[in-house]
Amino acid sequence: MSTTPPPPTDVTAEEPWAAQRDASWYACPNVTSDKVIHVAGQECREGFLSRCGRSVLNDDMTWTLDEVSDGLRCRSNGCRQAWPMDGAR
Ligand SMILES: [Zn+2]
Repeated sequence: MSTTPPPPTDVTAEEPWAAQRDASWYACPNVTSDKVIHVAGQECREGFLSRCGRSVLNDDMTWTLDEVSDGLRCRSNGCRQAWPMDGAR
């Protein structure tokens, strides 16, 4: 019973990133209506979980947090707190 450490990834931990959920993970992908972008959180078996814990993210296509426009940001608890604060607004 030994725990194997996860393989190293090329994602830098200090730099948070954001992505859409991985639609292919679902039985019925609905990619037209769900364009919400989540902040990446912890790694899981399927990939990376969003910080709100609802979705597995598609890390083939990622953004920096600053690149994601306000209307696309996930508002769920967890992701919401991770978005950079824009003091001007
Ligand atoms: Zn989210």
